[in-house]
Amino acid sequence: MMKKLFLTCILFFFACQTTTGQTQIIAHRGFWKTKGSAENSIAALVKADSIGCYGSEFDVWMTKDEELIVNHDPIIYGKSVQHTSARRITRTKLSNKERIPTLKQYLLKGKELKTKLILELKALSSPKQETLAVEKIVEMVKSMGMEDQMEYISFSLHAIKEFIRLAPRNTPVFYLNGDLSPKELKEIECAGPDYHFGIYKKNPEWITECRELGLKTNVWTVNKANDMKWFIDRKIDFITTNEPLVLQQVLLQPLHPEAGR
Ligand code: MG
Repeated sequence: MMKKLFLTCILFFFACQTTTGQTQIIAHRGFWKTKGSAENSIAALVKADSIGCYGSEFDVWMTKDEELIVNHDPIIYGKSVQHTSARRITRTKLSNKERIPTLKQYLLKGKELKTKLILELKALSSPKQETLAVEKIVEMVKSMGMEDQMEYISFSLHAIKEFIRLAPRNTPVFYLNGDLSPKELKEIECAGPDYHFGIYKKNPEWITECRELGLKTNVWTVNKANDMKWFIDRKIDFITTNEPLVLQQVLLQPLHPEAGR
């Protein structure tokens, strides 16, 4: 009897530990709000790692000649990335004087670091293009031996389904678009939602629901301390932010369950 009680206590302890796991920080487009950095630059990736972020997010497009490059914008200096060669795109300089990196260059640097690489594939011009991009990404990551360091996100449901189909099983794949419920995400074997904070504020029960379904929760882009507290109180798994240092400070403060409600 006592042995059974003891075992129950141990199990309860570990169950509590996993459910109280602390919110992790993901730097949105790397840590770019600091000297010498720029959004989606290799410097921003290195700096996100240097301040101990769990992950560093970045955006990926495919050029006309089917090369993968890292940048947020569909049009760079008047040129549509999808209709321009990689050679021309990667000649462009970022605000920190770095050139726009190729995905290969980005991953090569990432491999030296500890931070997880949160790769967002932008919604491309057709499902066919997205499938090709996903195939190329998964193949490149595999050939570089980086499968355990990767997580994938996209607004495109087709791209999400392709990552789930082609990446190794258990690779985290999160959906960004906000229009699927936790149950629907579970059905397509998605790791969970990575939704705009407004979606969670409208559906606050989704965070608990995801936990019950074994899904993880990520939220973007949370830059104000009060909003960060709102999500930390609800035990969100990841917060994606332009202000990783602010989030570090907020996470050091004791929980105030009523704050921000
Ligand atoms: Mg992004």
